[in-house]
Order: sequence, then structure tokens, then C-alpha cells
Amino acid sequence: MKSKKNLWMTLIVLVVAVSVVSVILLEKTEDSKEKKPSKTTQTTQKKEPQTVTKNNQNTKSEFVEAVEITINKSKWNLTLLNRNYKLPAGYVPKTAKIKLSENDPRRTQKALNETLDYRVAPEYQKMYDAAVKDGIYLTPCSGYRSVALQESIFNRYVKMYEDEGYSADKAKYKASNTSLPPGTSEHNMGLAMDIINTRDVFKDSKEYAWLEKNAHNYGFILRYPKDKTQITNVMYEPWHWRYVGVDDAVKIKNSGKCLEEYLGVK
Ligand SMILES: [Zn+2]
Repeated sequence: MKSKKNLWMTLIVLVVAVSVVSVILLEKTEDSKEKKPSKTTQTTQKKEPQTVTKNNQNTKSEFVEAVEITINKSKWNLTLLNRNYKLPAGYVPKTAKIKLSENDPRRTQKALNETLDYRVAPEYQKMYDAAVKDGIYLTPCSGYRSVALQESIFNRYVKMYEDEGYSADKAKYKASNTSLPPGTSEHNMGLAMDIINTRDVFKDSKEYAWLEKNAHNYGFILRYPKDKTQITNVMYEPWHWRYVGVDDAVKIKNSGKCLEEYLGVK
């Protein structure tokens, strides 16, 4: 009698245990079902040899229009622009030029004409002048670029893919893997400068080494680091330096995060 009771107890305990384990397992499966697609998208992302990789929202290989943002006036320096977020229509920054040293070996008219947002240009100037004292010339290569120019560059790629036989939508998607769509580039807001050139070899230059060591103290960050391409969706760009302000640049540098991670926004 006693052993029969024990057997029943054991059976009940077993049944309860099995149900609990099944519920846990089911929940886990549901969980991974939900989370897996985004993870898969990220790990299977192919690194394109050009500027942009994939839109993280985009799992269907279709072009996804960026969401228009509202610029926070007191935090304009932390404005996040990427393939998911674009400038409000008609936004044109007030811009200013950089004064280049007479000794700058790349002091061309084009370099002298480069501009940045009027609030960023003086900060770039401070960094430029400090570098000059160290014998380093951070010659502007490409600063502010209008949305119209961005659009014409983008449309040139769309046309190229259409000519290759892709449908209009597919061509737009492929173009967005090559060039940032109009309004989604930091150059359109005048917050970023491509310094000296836009070639991969820039990473081996003494100017790059100087920037790595000092740029954060002037409010600039390396916007598209090598180990963050899956998050930024943009390839490693050693030449592209983005202004965020000294406090945030120092924090970002020390955290090892990219801007998306730092802001907690994709
Ligand atoms: Zn750039």
C-alpha cells in the first residue's frame, strides 16, 4: 500500500516536472522564433565593397524608405542619420568654411571651398589648427553636400542598375547598397568631414593616427568603425569623421561603441 502510494506520488511529480519543462521549452522556442530573424539578417549581411551594406529593417531585399526625423534643437549634435532616418524635407544647414594653412600640401581651391555646419566648422578649425602644430594637415576632402547632390549621386546608381536590367524597385534597393539615399547622409547635415581622401589606405596615414589619438578631444568621432559595420550598415570609413561635441565624443571613444549603440537606436 505504502509503495503504491509512493509510486503514485512519483508519477505525479514526474508529470508536473514534464509539463513545467515543456512550458519552458515552448517559451524558449517562441522567444527564439521572435529574435532569430533579426539575428540571421545581421550575421548573413554581406559586406559590400562600397559605402553601404544592408538596411537592417529590410529582410525582403526591397528598398525601404527612411523615416523623416525632427531635429532636437538642443541636441542637434547627436542627430542620428542612417539608412533608417533622414533629414526633414527642405533642411539646409547654415555653413562655414575652414581656413587652411598656407603650408597645407593639399591646399586646393576645392579644399578651400569645403564647408561644414556653421557650429561645426569652428570646432573643425580648432582640430585642424592643433594638428598643424604637430605637423599634420587635416585637409578637407568632402564636407557639407546638398540633398540635391546626394540625390543625383543616388539616382545615377539607380539608373546604372536599371540599365543592367533590374526593376525600378530592385534598382533602388541595389543603389542603396552603394550610396546613401538623399537626406540620410551626415554630409547632408554638414556634420561630417571626409578628411584628405576617401581611400582605404588612409587608415595607414599619420593623419589617421593623429585623429585616432586626438579627434575626440575636439568633438569628432570615427563614425563607421571596422568592427561595427553590422550595426552602422556602412563599411569601414577611416576618412569619415563626425562631430558630436567633446563630451559625447570622449564618452563614445571610451565606451568603444558606435553612435547607434551609444544612442540605443538602430
Ligand atoms: Zn563621408
